[in-house]
Amino acid sequence: MTIPRDEPLAFGTPAIGEAEIDEVVATLRSGWLTTGPRVARFEALFARRTAAEHAVAVASCTGGLHISLVAAGIGPGDEVITSPLTFCATAHAIVHAGARPVFADVDPRTGNIDPRAVEAAIGPRTAAVIPVHLAGRPCEMDELETVASRHGLLLVEDAAHAAGASYRGRSAGTIGDAGCFSFYATKSVATGEGGMVTVRDGELADRIRLYAHHGLGERTYDRDAEGTYRHQVSLLPGFKCNMTDVQAALGIHQLARLADEIDARIGIWRRYDEAFADLPLDLPAPVPEDVGHSRHLYSVTIRTEEIGRTRDQVLAELYALRIGAGVHFTPVHLHPYYRESAGGREGQFPNAERIGARTLSLPLSSALTEEDVDDVVAAVEQAVGATAGVVTR
Ligand SMILES: *Cc1c(COP(=O)(O)O)cnc(C)c1O
Repeated sequence: MTIPRDEPLAFGTPAIGEAEIDEVVATLRSGWLTTGPRVARFEALFARRTAAEHAVAVASCTGGLHISLVAAGIGPGDEVITSPLTFCATAHAIVHAGARPVFADVDPRTGNIDPRAVEAAIGPRTAAVIPVHLAGRPCEMDELETVASRHGLLLVEDAAHAAGASYRGRSAGTIGDAGCFSFYATKSVATGEGGMVTVRDGELADRIRLYAHHGLGERTYDRDAEGTYRHQVSLLPGFKCNMTDVQAALGIHQLARLADEIDARIGIWRRYDEAFADLPLDLPAPVPEDVGHSRHLYSVTIRTEEIGRTRDQVLAELYALRIGAGVHFTPVHLHPYYRESAGGREGQFPNAERIGARTLSLPLSSALTEEDVDDVVAAVEQAVGATAGVVTR
C-alpha cells in the first residue's frame, strides 16, 4: 500500500499516443489548420463507427446541443425536458436556444432520466426531450422514443459520455433525431475541446452544418478545392461552432483507440467492483446483455448514513491521500442560476438529489497503472471504511 501517494493521481488522464502527436504535427505542417480534410475524415470515420446517417463535427458538445435545438426550430415559448443529473451545459444549451428547461427525475438505480417522469412533465409547450446517457450507460431509449413519438417531440441525445456505447444493437447517440458527443479533455475520445452531432435526417443535418458555421453554404476548404473564387454567402444567422483540423487530427486516432480504451476500463471496472463489494457503497448498476456501457465514469453512491460521514468528507479524505475524484453531478436545478431563474429548490427531484449528494467518480482510464488502481482501492477502503469499522489492509 502506497497511500498517501507521493505524486497525486489526477481524476481524468487522457491517453494520447504517438499517432495523435504525429497527426497534429502533420496538420500543422500541412498549412490547413481549421475545418478541412481532417475534419471531413473524422466525420466519415465517426459516422461509420456509429452507423450514423450523418455526422457533423462541432467545437463542443454544448455547441452541438445548442445548434441541434435551433436547427430543429426550437426557441422562445418552447419547453425542453432533460435530466437534472447532468453537467450544467445540457440545460444551458436549452437556455441558449431561447427555450425553457424542464427537469424530470431520474431512475434511482442508474441515474438516467426516468421515461415515466418525462411523460409526466410533458405540457402544451413541450417541444423536445434531451436524455443524458449518464456515465456512458444508455438511457431507456425504447421507452423514450415511444414517449417522444406519441407526443411529437424532438429527441436529442446528450451522448457526451457515450462514445462507444450501444443500446439494443444501435449506437448511443444515433437513436433519437440527433445525438451530441463531447471530445473534451476528460472524455474517452479527447481532442481538448470538440464535439460531434450525429443526425438521422439529411435536411436537419444540413441545417446543423449551416448553423455550425455562420450559415455559410459551403466550407472554405471545399470552395478552395475547386480552384476558383466564389463569394461566401450566408443563408441563416449561424454560430461559430466548427471543429478545427488540429482537433480532428487528435480525434481520428482517439476514435481508433476507443475499443481498446473501453476494454482497459472494463478491466479496472471489474477490479473496483470486486474490491468495493463489501464496502458501504452502491456500485454502478449492472448492465443488461443488450446494452453496451461505454465505461466513461465509474461512479459510486456512498451510503453516507451508514458511515456517518458526508460525501464531501470522503472526497477530502481521498484528496488528502492524493487520489483525484469527481462529482457527477450537482443537480442542475440546485445551481444558483437555476434556483434564481427556474425556482429550483431541494425536494423537487429526490432521486437526482439523493445521488447528487452522495456520488463520487473514481479515476478510470487506460493511462492508469496497476499500482495506480491499487492506490485508488486502498484509498477508498480507508476513506469510507475508517469510521465504519471496516478493517483496512
Ligand atoms: C462534458 C459534458 C457536456 C459538454 O461537453 P463539451 O464538449 O465540454 O461542451 C455536456 N453534457 C455532459 C453530460 C457532459 O459531461
